[in-house]
Amino acid sequence: MATENFDVIVIGAGPAGYHAAIRAAQLGLKTACIDAALGKDGKPALGGTCLRVGCIPSKALLDSSRQYWNLTHLFGEHGITASNPAIDIGTMIGRKDKIVKQFTGGIAMLFKANKVTPYYGFGQLQPGNVVTVKQHDGTTVELKGTNVVLAAGSDSIELPFAKFDGKTIVDNVGALDFTEVPKRLGVIGAGVIGLELGSVWKRLGAEVTILEALPDFLAAADAEVAKTAAREFKKQGLDIRLGAKVSKADVKKNEVVLTYTDAKGEQTITVDKLLVSVGRRAATKGLLADGTGVKLDQRGMIEVDEHCHTGVDGVWAIGDCVRGPMLAHKGFEEGIAVAELIAGLPGHVNLDTIPWVIYTEPEIAWVGKTEEQLKAEGTPYKAGSFPFAALGRAVAMAEPAGFVKVIAHAETDRILGMHLVGVNVSELVHEGVLAMEFSGSADDLARICHAHPTLSEAVHDAAMAVSKRAIHKAN
Ligand code: FAD
Ligand code: AMP
Repeated sequence: MATENFDVIVIGAGPAGYHAAIRAAQLGLKTACIDAALGKDGKPALGGTCLRVGCIPSKALLDSSRQYWNLTHLFGEHGITASNPAIDIGTMIGRKDKIVKQFTGGIAMLFKANKVTPYYGFGQLQPGNVVTVKQHDGTTVELKGTNVVLAAGSDSIELPFAKFDGKTIVDNVGALDFTEVPKRLGVIGAGVIGLELGSVWKRLGAEVTILEALPDFLAAADAEVAKTAAREFKKQGLDIRLGAKVSKADVKKNEVVLTYTDAKGEQTITVDKLLVSVGRRAATKGLLADGTGVKLDQRGMIEVDEHCHTGVDGVWAIGDCVRGPMLAHKGFEEGIAVAELIAGLPGHVNLDTIPWVIYTEPEIAWVGKTEEQLKAEGTPYKAGSFPFAALGRAVAMAEPAGFVKVIAHAETDRILGMHLVGVNVSELVHEGVLAMEFSGSADDLARICHAHPTLSEAVHDAAMAVSKRAIHKAN
């Protein structure tokens, strides 16, 4: 078998992999990128989980369902009424599929424009930086790279008692493709995916019950943010049951009987569809042949140092298959950093300033540490917050729920975190990211002019509230 040589071979064309490949090619390196995934049409589809069955399709459905929810629940407040509002699920899913096709096709075009050579098939790292690719046509090709970047991403975790059948018990892939609104949707896991996809189908009329084993709601978020979000979700009719550990899922005809245990003992509920969203695991199965020297940790993640290097000469790993948050933009940054390091440039990712966003209504976002984390580690801090209910723009938009909280060091005033819940906070959180990257203080943010009336003013007032000088609320 003839072997083709590359400067960089990337396995996986998700957010992490396609960023690494494009940036490497921009830097003049001869680059190949291998991806095994097929789209709904059975043809190769680049872009990974994010573009095919993650970030982009979920946001498309969140947007469609939000328009419908606003029409049926919010527009009345503006004096707008419509008789017989209806949503055609086929059209909604078709719109989502079109967006997915546009963006997955876009990656193929970007590869062409940047001279990245795509290989469509399953890649396996062999010892000596050789990669074999089992292509979809049954043939195998062999590539050799001065550098190999592993960007295999992640897959849904399956519960042993609730195997995915793609129809009744589904993961994100199935829940993004229901052909009708389920009457009763059960969700196991109140994490990001469960909340976002649960919200989609709730807004369209499903009775949604989310069962979460942990006693605290969104334990990773700021406690006040989590409390506000839980209150708003309850108002919307999302039934979130905490401390509810599911142990059984019996499929009977077209129903699933779920058994869970909570403080009151064993309970059952019956649903028509079940979404299992209990986390994701690194997709490293079959990725590494024997003898590569690349190590996996106990959870199957590829072990890397702070520069995403595996310890094996020329072998790097990035994105969901390594430590750190499983977020597309974390993979973007690692992909770029690794390509730049390979090219001899200084590449770096600051895992402490990765923003988190949950695209529910209200949206939830944060960067940096929570009050709970700072208390636990004994760091002295001061916090200032500002509610959207006191903000002209938010009230004018009929979106008064939520607040912005800025946390700064008690002595230096350096910003340690920003926590937000409310309308469009997925955009506002970047003020916190920027301020933290520039080692900014709450006073810096408070002295920066923010346009009026905007939602960003909540950030400004929260920063002023840190030193008890907010203008639009009592301090
Ligand atoms: P992936 O996107 O998983 O891509 C890996 C690619 O590699 C896949 O195409 C896979 O087929 C391919 N591959 C794997 N192994 C091989 C192999 N051996 N040979 C060839 N190809 C291989 N994150 C956000 O930041 N924002 C969001 O709003 C968001 N929403 C999400 C919604 C849902 C429903 C889900 C499931 C995830 C969401 N995420 C979101 C997470 C985000 O999708 C992931 O963090 C991101 O896709 C990880 O990128 P990656 O490149 O590491 O891996
Ligand atoms: P995330 O990892 O953010 O997607 O969240 C997954 C959630 O699923 C976590 O909060 C887990 O506690 C929860 N979970 C995992 N297994 C179960 C189970 N058997 N029953 C209920 N919740 C579960």
